[in-house]
Amino acid sequence: MKLNSRAVHSGDRKRSASGWTPVTTPIHLASSYIYNDMEDLDKVFAREMPGQVYGRYGTPTSDALEEVVNELEGGAGALACSSGMAALHMAINTALIDRRRVVLAGKLLYGATLGMLMKVFEPAGVEVVFADFDDENEVAAAIAEHRPGAIVMETIVNPLLRVPALDRIAKMANEAKAPLIVDNTFATPMLMRPLQHGAAMSVHSLTKYLSGHGDVLGGAVVADAEHIEPLRNLSRTLGFTLGPFECYLAMRGIKTFPLRMERQCANACRVASWLATHPAVDRIYFPADPKHPDADNIKRLLPAGIYGAMVSFEVKGADRAGIFRLMNALQMVVPATSLGDVHTMMLYPAMASHRELSPKHRERLGIRDNLVRLSVGIEAAEDIIADLDRALKA
Ligand SMILES: *Cc1c(COP(=O)(O)O)cnc(C)c1O
Repeated sequence: MKLNSRAVHSGDRKRSASGWTPVTTPIHLASSYIYNDMEDLDKVFAREMPGQVYGRYGTPTSDALEEVVNELEGGAGALACSSGMAALHMAINTALIDRRRVVLAGKLLYGATLGMLMKVFEPAGVEVVFADFDDENEVAAAIAEHRPGAIVMETIVNPLLRVPALDRIAKMANEAKAPLIVDNTFATPMLMRPLQHGAAMSVHSLTKYLSGHGDVLGGAVVADAEHIEPLRNLSRTLGFTLGPFECYLAMRGIKTFPLRMERQCANACRVASWLATHPAVDRIYFPADPKHPDADNIKRLLPAGIYGAMVSFEVKGADRAGIFRLMNALQMVVPATSLGDVHTMMLYPAMASHRELSPKHRERLGIRDNLVRLSVGIEAAEDIIADLDRALKA
């Protein structure tokens, strides 16, 4: 089945002996389960028989969500977590269970991911090494020098929308026997499926495109055959599991994810080409830009004509006050801290996603004070453009 069909059907409508089946998976709130026979409960505990035991281990609702997310990404199994950050934490901990406690990560990543590596993993005794993932030689050298137990990267990197050579980096990671963990939140399985390139785990903030309506926080890890059981075991102990209500909302969102994403990507192309010639715009960052520094990777890795729905741009001569003025002047575009929703959103990285980094650190990474990040929604492109035009002139 194609992605669109899987999104609608996978996980739902498990036939039961009763003869009737709800068309959508219900919200199962029970925290524990009984069986007709203690022998059966024993078998479920031993994982010799599928079934439910206790809410921390999962619910029929989380099972259904995990099935659809896994089908979209093509893994051996998925784990639904209470947030994207919880999912990343689970993935890194799973990779490090029996490996060298050294993580090699991209220099530029989602702000909270950098924060977690430096403020949670490092103090816990994990050595964290950063490299420029847009430079394959630098990654190869860092792997050889530090022999990491896990490698962490993003498919489309926040917020400058670089597209590293996932396929080649996955090959290097496999040769070094270091599991590659890929945050695929920005690209979504519509643009890239990291496990097919050799990644060990693909991580999502379900809060973003997959749920898509700005009403649920969640995350997911999709793992290969080697990592799915260790991941589930760790989760059974720690319980960063996603509650059944959130699972239901995420699953409801996923049914329309391919449809929304198609529209969002098409809108992003229109908005980006309009911004590229706008007199108040210095520079745009968008994977469809023919001058994009990763044009070769984009051509090789992304489906033709689909470039994601994130567009970053620098406003000519604007400082922090100028960006605040622009964002205050928006009438339809939502100046909110998230991405991937049905509504277009604008975020100011220096104030929000990359706030925790020092101004010098941001400058080194190329995140300037006049940079804004747009998550293009499903509205009419004309309306998005008209609102941006009005605000850019304010
Ligand atoms: C939002 C986001 C996260 C964190 O997800 P939460 O659901 O907010 O915990 C991680 N990575 C990327 C790329 C994100 O956009």
